[in-house]
Amino acid sequence: MKPDVAVIGGGYAGLACAVALARSERVRVTVFESGRVLGGRARVVTRHDPPVDNGQHILIGAYTQLLQTMRQVGVSPKLLETLPLTIAYPDGFELRAARLPAPLHLAVGLARARGLAWSDRLAAAQLIRRLRRRHWQVSPDRPVAEVLDDLGQTPTLRARLWEPLCVAALNTPASEASAQVFANVLRDSLAAGSAASELLIPRVDLSELFPVPATRWLGRRGHDVRTSDAIRAIRVEDGVFWLDGGPSWVGYEQVVVATAPYHAAPLLEPFAALAGVRESIEALDHQPITTVYLRYENSPLSGPPMVGLVDGPAQWLFDRGRLGGPRGLLAAVVSARSRYDELPHEALELAVRRQLERAFERLPMPTWIRSIAERRATFSCRPGIARPDNRTPLAGLWLAGDYTRGPYPATLEGAVRSGLAAARGVLASLD
Ligand SMILES: Cc1cc2nc3c(=O)[nH]c(=O)nc-3n(C[C@H](O)[C@H](O)[C@H](O)COP(=O)(O)OP(=O)(O)OC[C@H]3O[C@@H](n4cnc5c(N)ncnc54)[C@H](O)[C@@H]3O)c2cc1C
Repeated sequence: MKPDVAVIGGGYAGLACAVALARSERVRVTVFESGRVLGGRARVVTRHDPPVDNGQHILIGAYTQLLQTMRQVGVSPKLLETLPLTIAYPDGFELRAARLPAPLHLAVGLARARGLAWSDRLAAAQLIRRLRRRHWQVSPDRPVAEVLDDLGQTPTLRARLWEPLCVAALNTPASEASAQVFANVLRDSLAAGSAASELLIPRVDLSELFPVPATRWLGRRGHDVRTSDAIRAIRVEDGVFWLDGGPSWVGYEQVVVATAPYHAAPLLEPFAALAGVRESIEALDHQPITTVYLRYENSPLSGPPMVGLVDGPAQWLFDRGRLGGPRGLLAAVVSARSRYDELPHEALELAVRRQLERAFERLPMPTWIRSIAERRATFSCRPGIARPDNRTPLAGLWLAGDYTRGPYPATLEGAVRSGLAAARGVLASLD
């Protein structure tokens, strides 16, 4: 009999973990997902018409582990719209990486950029050069804003390039965000080559992008994914794990807790050995992301399907109509903590509408508008925070999720890497 392994959480981390375990053919996997819909913080919300994601997501070419795991469960790369890294604004500013090997892709991109003075281009190239020379180490770790000061970045670069990229990648304002984690992201994306820095935007909803195909793939191999099945507590007896919520007759040899950090901490509560892990999880604080969806007769975007926005509340705008969605549907993304957080939905939607009217001339009224707020979208990626390991001091109990220790901020790639690392730990412990 193969040992039973339970994975608690049907988000990207839990499902990547389950796929890796199943591929080993050494264990039987059951995934428990409390929600009706798979995907966790990256899922479709079907109560709206048209259905939309709980938040617009963007992937990059450097998400190698996610892309590989998607391929393993048969997801076609065509479900992602691939664009060269382009940072464009409605006023004509545009920085587009050239399709050339690194570092030429960026050097040529900077040389051809619109809206940058020569002093901006030189300062941006110098930042990359200086970080590369330091092997991408920021020691001691400190806020991104301080490093931008130290490396002489101009106000235009800060406002149009580094601060929006920092918020997009770390979901933490540059004044608070970890420069080390930001340097890791730049190393593996912008500075790594044109393929790694490509933008990959889902053309299907986030549940269809990976969680649903992963579940079908697991089902075909005899593994189980149970939705609407919340695990309320974990007990251990004689080295066997019992789950309050799952079928009462199955004990598990190993358990992977693949929930968001704030759902993991209560599950760890009964175990004295895990007090330290729980403390580090509870010390994490969180940042919001709200996506405001607006539908117009016609999209005002004529260039790239993703543009930056200035003067708040939103930082980025996506043309969903050109990304597999209905014509005229836009997604405006309001990331990280800001003075807009306390606004009621209607006031935020109005502020975003006004922002779009300032950015695009003669914009008519939207025909439809909805917003989805995720108050705890990601952990705050601050300098020097302690993130727990996949392995816990309780043998057989593992953690997976975007918040566990790793080089990346809370992202789909971070979640998948964590899930794969937990699976490797489980399998190694069976040897
Ligand atoms: C609005 C928004 C925009 C984002 N944009 C981007 C982006 O552009 N690019 C990017 O890479 N990342 C982005 N992220 C981050 C990314 O979505 C997350 O890092 C990733 O989805 C986390 O996956 P996870 O599996 O670690 O956790 P989760 O997605 O939180 O999955 C945990 C799962 O566990 C389930 N669960 C919880 N408790 C229990 C229980 N007791 N029993 C059973 N199941 C339980 C939950 O329902 C959930 O499905 C964004 C996040 C949000 C919210």
